Amino acid sequence: MSGHREETAEVEDILADAVRHLEWLRDAGVGEVEEMGAGKETVPKGSATSGVSAGQPPHPRDSATGRSSGAPAPLEPSQPRERAPVRDERGQGRGQSSTSTRIPHVKAAYALADTGCGSDELLALRERMGECTRCKLAGGRTKLVFGTGNPRAELMFVGEGPGADEDLQGEPFVGKAGQLLTKMIEAMGFRREEVYIANVVKCRPPGNRDPEPEEIDACEPFLKAQIAAVRPRVIVGLGRFAVQTLLRDPTPISKQRGRWREYEGVKLMPTFHPAYLLRNPAEKKKAWDDLRLVMKEFGKIGPSNG
Ligand code: SF4
Repeated sequence: MSGHREETAEVEDILADAVRHLEWLRDAGVGEVEEMGAGKETVPKGSATSGVSAGQPPHPRDSATGRSSGAPAPLEPSQPRERAPVRDERGQGRGQSSTSTRIPHVKAAYALADTGCGSDELLALRERMGECTRCKLAGGRTKLVFGTGNPRAELMFVGEGPGADEDLQGEPFVGKAGQLLTKMIEAMGFRREEVYIANVVKCRPPGNRDPEPEEIDACEPFLKAQIAAVRPRVIVGLGRFAVQTLLRDPTPISKQRGRWREYEGVKLMPTFHPAYLLRNPAEKKKAWDDLRLVMKEFGKIGPSNG
């Protein structure tokens, strides 16, 4: 009976994913036939196991440096790294697992990843941060919002900083904007647990004001260390503030979005922040165009669907 209940829960999860996918596509004003066809054909079976599976291989950075996986993550990033072999390792087994066999493994692996510290490096970094007081944002926070998701994610999303809901729950993107981000992620053919999500600053700026330069300077090394630990193939920069901060480029987000850039040796796609999209739903189509470029990068859209 318990096996039957698990299977039922899995089917419900999959149906919920499909509904969110459709909701985002509808909201983005995307043609249903074209997009649904692309999604069905191009999202690899078993993609939810990407980078997180039973028997997960050692993190490539460990083998590249000889550093033990338990060593503290540096607060300063390492140089850009060779990535192609990493993807080969991570890609092993894709498309080979059936839904019924992969999901229990995924759920178990994600139990730790949900804390945002699902690898030794991330855990060590979080421990080093402790109850951080390196900037004055510490004084107003309820919870430090470290990050969430797959510690070996190929796709990482970086936003600005925690809002009220995130401050209370200690997890990034859990409010209305977070729900929209989840729809966007799932419409791309990923699951939220499959990607990694973090912010430029880890503590809520009072009144949701923009973080100040000294606060960014104090906190950005943590983001760099997260990126060095996760080693994503692609970062999606969410919104004006995150993109301008990461790229040190004051160009408006409306002009930066949709063009590949690079941050810490990782390809970065700037796009609109989900909170902006909630206020300006007509811009969802542009955001979807940006996300489709990312999907192409991951082979989730064929050339004919581009
Ligand atoms: Fe520390 Fe970053 Fe929080 Fe400032 S925002 S107190 S640097 S964790």
